[in-house]
Amino acid sequence: TAAKFDVVIVGAGAAGLMCGIEAARRGRRVAVIDHAKKPAEKIRISGGGRCNFTHLQATPKNFLSQNPHFCISALKRFTPWDFLDRVVKRGIRYFEKTEGQLFCETSAGDIIDMLLDDLADAGGELYLGISVEGVTKTGPGFEIDTSNGNLTAEKLVIATGGLSIPKMGATGFAYGIARQFGHEIIETRAGLVPFTLGGEKLAAIEGLSGVSLTARVACGKASFTDGFLFTHRGLSGPAILQISSYWKPGEAIEVDLLPDMNGFDYLQSRRKDRPKQTLGNVVAEIQPRRLSDRILEWHDLPPEARMADLGNATLQTLADAVNRWTFIPDGTEGYRTAEVTLGGIDTRALSSQTMESQLCPGLYFIGECVDVTGWLGGYNFQWAWSSGWAAGQAV
Ligand code: FAD
Repeated sequence: TAAKFDVVIVGAGAAGLMCGIEAARRGRRVAVIDHAKKPAEKIRISGGGRCNFTHLQATPKNFLSQNPHFCISALKRFTPWDFLDRVVKRGIRYFEKTEGQLFCETSAGDIIDMLLDDLADAGGELYLGISVEGVTKTGPGFEIDTSNGNLTAEKLVIATGGLSIPKMGATGFAYGIARQFGHEIIETRAGLVPFTLGGEKLAAIEGLSGVSLTARVACGKASFTDGFLFTHRGLSGPAILQISSYWKPGEAIEVDLLPDMNGFDYLQSRRKDRPKQTLGNVVAEIQPRRLSDRILEWHDLPPEARMADLGNATLQTLADAVNRWTFIPDGTEGYRTAEVTLGGIDTRALSSQTMESQLCPGLYFIGECVDVTGWLGGYNFQWAWSSGWAAGQAV
């Protein structure tokens, strides 16, 4: 006979564990099941091993969705401060990296241990290494076929995340269940992901791998000023990861490699004040040397030329190369390295209060599988906590 639960949650990641804790604290009999051997592996590798677990200034404008208002309710009911409160009570040491971005001082494992202890203390059960083979609606509840026998549940919560990092067991499971019950899927794409360049564009940056600086990167109306990094395949760094979520194939990216300075004004003043200085040395004062030499090469500008001998047109060409470098990426590194999956289950058929399906009562979707995607900086975990918490109050 099938084991009976009030609530079965598929996916023991950030969202699923939070939901399980809240439901179990309400006295529900809860099972959280995951096909992986270890829970919450994405928390473990997040934030370079230190988990950027929230962003204190998270607001709906930090999230991408076809339905931008959907995330408001959950984010208001379980806020970054509510999560921080748990971290503080647990005695986890943390630090604020840039404004609002909170990381574990020691290791992301502290967050995982807290979640697992909270789940166990509340009486929630965790089953690992079990895959779900099928789900059927049975009158008021669900029957769930697993590799380890059948379960029944009154409420079923899907928290299996998105498609990023398939090596770690990411699957499209949530989208399959959503379709089975008539939900629409907003087309998915890799987000927070490095750009790749090919052909001449890649040749142009050859040898710059490892050079990093602060840049302003724009695509259409979106722009971010943050770290920018040349790689052996293209471009990365926080500013690139952020803009990648707004980019669609074929669109141009504009980079200002000198976001606090007007390059033309700077070059003109140098020509006036230090006419004997060479162009190569002037540009190297404002850009990493390897990059400044390359920028001159791109435009056939002689590094040994004296500033006094250069006309305004030359200075303008160089200033544009620095302040308005424009190119079309060949692509992205895709789900292999993406931190998130954009798109997902269309929120228009979900309750923003509870995450429950409007098409199949008793079925819930939370976390990254839903069409709500945060910026880089702790927003994606906050969405997992908030949506998991909201469903946990309702199931
Ligand atoms: P997940 O945490 O991905 O959990 C899904 C769970 O479901 C997994 O345990 C998986 O094994 C399980 N599962 C999948 N398919 C099945 C199936 N068919 N059957 C059973 N179980 C299944 N966000 C931040 O906010 N801050 C960061 O510092 C940060 N760093 C990141 C670094 C990297 C390298 C990556 C890849 C992501 C990072 N993110 C970060 C994003 C963040 O990890 C995710 O947005 C978040 O984990 C989503 O939570 P989730 O619970 O929805 O899904």
